[in-house]
Amino acid sequence: MAHKVTSRVGLRFLGNLRTTEVHDLTRETTQCQIDEILRAGHAVGFRPDTLAQAHSERYDNCAYCIGGSTR
Ligand SMILES: [Zn+2]
Repeated sequence: MAHKVTSRVGLRFLGNLRTTEVHDLTRETTQCQIDEILRAGHAVGFRPDTLAQAHSERYDNCAYCIGGSTR
């Protein structure tokens, strides 16, 4: 399940609750604006911390760090 996070520590994937986009923190770009997402309180982590889990919760790929957005 997606759960709110206030830090990226220990996470591979980070979702934006507001846009329902998921980011891969190992391939993060400046366009991902991860720090802004965290600061705004819109950041979520996933259990398990996998892309498949994010997709199952209807999160869409970030175009910058993952690609293949379906929106
Ligand atoms: Zn991204």
